[in-house]
Amino acid sequence: MKKRLEELKWRLQEVQALNAVSSVLGWDQTTYMPPGGAAARGRQMAVVARLAHEKLTDPEIGHLLDRLERDAADLPDDGDEAALIRVTRRDYERAARIPADFVSAFNEHQTTTYQAWTTARPADDFKALEPMLEKTLDFSPQLSGFFPGFEHVADPLIDLTDEGMTVALLGELFRELREALVPLVQSISEATEVDDSCLKQHFPAEAQLEFGKTVIREFGYDFDRGREDLSPHPFTTAFSIGDVRITTRIKENDITEALFGTLHEAGHGMYEQGIDPAYEGLPLADGASSGVHESQSRLWENIVGRSLAFWEHYYPRLQSIFSEQLGRVSLATFYKAINKVTPSLIRTDADEVTYNLHVMIRFELEKQLLNGTLPVSDLPEAWDARYESDMGVSAPDDRDGVLQDVHWYAGRIGGVFQGYTLGNVLSAQFYKAALQDLPEIGAQTSEGSFELLGSWMKENIYRHGRKYTPSELIERATGGPIQVQSYIDYLKKKFGDLYGLK
Ligand code: ZN
Repeated sequence: MKKRLEELKWRLQEVQALNAVSSVLGWDQTTYMPPGGAAARGRQMAVVARLAHEKLTDPEIGHLLDRLERDAADLPDDGDEAALIRVTRRDYERAARIPADFVSAFNEHQTTTYQAWTTARPADDFKALEPMLEKTLDFSPQLSGFFPGFEHVADPLIDLTDEGMTVALLGELFRELREALVPLVQSISEATEVDDSCLKQHFPAEAQLEFGKTVIREFGYDFDRGREDLSPHPFTTAFSIGDVRITTRIKENDITEALFGTLHEAGHGMYEQGIDPAYEGLPLADGASSGVHESQSRLWENIVGRSLAFWEHYYPRLQSIFSEQLGRVSLATFYKAINKVTPSLIRTDADEVTYNLHVMIRFELEKQLLNGTLPVSDLPEAWDARYESDMGVSAPDDRDGVLQDVHWYAGRIGGVFQGYTLGNVLSAQFYKAALQDLPEIGAQTSEGSFELLGSWMKENIYRHGRKYTPSELIERATGGPIQVQSYIDYLKKKFGDLYGLK
C-alpha cells in the first residue's frame, strides 16, 4: 500500500507541475505579456492543459485508486491519505469524463476570448464578442453534459467550484438573503446620504500601493512567498505553497480601488500560503471551494478592513501619508465614506449590502442563457433591464454593463458567480465562530494586530486545504452547516449603527 501511495503521489505531483506551468503562463499573460503574444500563448496554454489532462486521466491512476480504495479500509478516516484518495478520485473522475479534445478546444477558445475582451471592453464593443460568447454558450452545456444525473444544467458547473451546491440550494439561500437585503437597502436609501467625496481626491499611485502592502504584511501575507503586481482584473494565483501571487489595479482618483482590492486578494493569498506544507504538489494543496476561498478575501477586505476597529489603528497612518487629502477629514467621516451604501453599476466596487444583488442578477442571467430562454444577442438588454429593476440604475454603455466582469469572457457560462455570495455568507459565519473561541480578536484589530484571527483561520481552514469537503469544513469550523443568519445579523448591526437605523 505504501508503494502504491508513493506512486500515486509522484504521478499527481507531475500533474500539479504542469498545472503550475499553466498558472505561470496565465499570470504572465494578464500582467506583463505584450498583446502580440496572445495567439501563441493561447496555443502554449492549450498544449500544457492537454498534457496535464492526459497525465491525470492516465488509466494507471484509475488502477492505483481502485486498489488504494480497497486498502483504505485500514486507514484512519480522518487522515491525510484517505483524503488524498477521496480528492484524487473526484478529480480523476471529473477529468476522465471530459475528453482531451474538448479541454484543449475550450481552453484555446477561452484564451482568445479573454484577449478580445481586453480590447472590446474599453472600446465598448459587445458585438465583437458576441460570436465568441455564443461559442462559450455552446461549450458550457456540453461541459455540463459530461456529468449526467444532475437536476439542472448549471448544477454540474456549480459543483465544479462549489462542491455540493446546486441551483435549488442556492435559490433557497439567495431567497432568504434577498428577503433581508431588500428592506435594508430600502431603509438606508431613506436615511441621510453619506458624503464620500474625501475618497475621490488625487492619491498618487505609488503611495497607495505602499500603504496596501504595509497593511497586508501586518495581516500576515508573506512577501517571501508572494508578490503583488498590477493587472486589469485583480486576482490571486498559486504556483506552489511557497509562491502565491496577488495583483491589484490602481485609480489615482479613488483610494478604495487598490487598497480594498489588495486586502481582498491578500485574503485569498493567505489562505493558499497557509495550507499544510505536507500537501505541496498534491491536489489537497488548494482551497476547499470557491465559496470558502472567497470567505477569506471578504473577511479580510470587509469584516476586518472596513471595520471601525481597524481604522482606529490605521487611519492616523493613512492621514500622515496623505495629509493634504485627509488631514482635515475625521475618522468618522472616512469610516462612513468607505462603507457608503448605494445601488451601483459595478459589482467589484459594490458596498457590502448591495453586493449580493449583483451576484443574483448574474446567477439568474446565466440560468436563462443555459436554459435557452435568453439568446446571447439579447444579453446586454436583459442585463440593463435587470439593473434597472433590481438596483434602479442604468449603465451608460456596455463597458460598465454586461462587459464589466471577465468571467464569461475568460471562462464558462454557469457556476462562476455564486462563490462570491457564498463567500460573503461564510465570512460572517467563520468570523463569528472565531470570536466565540477568541473574544480578544476585536481588541487586537484596533491595535493593528491580527495574530489571533490569522491563527484561528489557519488552524480551522487554511491548513486543511481540500482535505475536507466544503460542508465538512464549515461544520468542523463553525459547528453547523452554512446559514445566512450570521451574515444578515452582521450587516444589520454594522449598517444599522452606521446609518442610525432603528
Ligand atoms: Zn475574490
